[in-house]
Amino acid sequence: MKILVSKCLTGCPCRYDGKSCGNEKVTKFLSGHQVFAVCPEQDGGLSTPRSPAEIIGDKIIAKNGNDVTKEYTLGAQKALQVAKENNVDLCILKAKSPSCGKGMIYDGTFSGNLIEGNGVTCKLLQENGFKVISENEL
Ligand code: SF4
Repeated sequence: MKILVSKCLTGCPCRYDGKSCGNEKVTKFLSGHQVFAVCPEQDGGLSTPRSPAEIIGDKIIAKNGNDVTKEYTLGAQKALQVAKENNVDLCILKAKSPSCGKGMIYDGTFSGNLIEGNGVTCKLLQENGFKVISENEL
């Protein structure tokens, strides 16, 4: 199977805080499959570490006040390109992220509250017909 995965789940320290979210269950699941790891926030041009961001209306705003909608959108488009070029069968994306999150994301108040919704990359992949699950659904 060809699988697109959030890079931080593979142990890459690409999170906003410079840490990874290496996940043993994901690593085991990926074994034997063809893996395409992407980090839409980095791929969209943001540096690591970076200010955390949340979706507010139709924009993505960093905690430091910067509008990072353009970078998030570009990163999502690049992830879609990887998914399309390689015709991936499945996408495993990091839960709760404003880029990768599926089903639940932070509510835009930077208070840790979760609401129903998808990150921008998750949404774009789903809109284009790709199957997306979070690491919690493995
Ligand atoms: Fe992980 Fe996705 Fe955030 Fe990159 S954008 S750190 S891959 S959750």
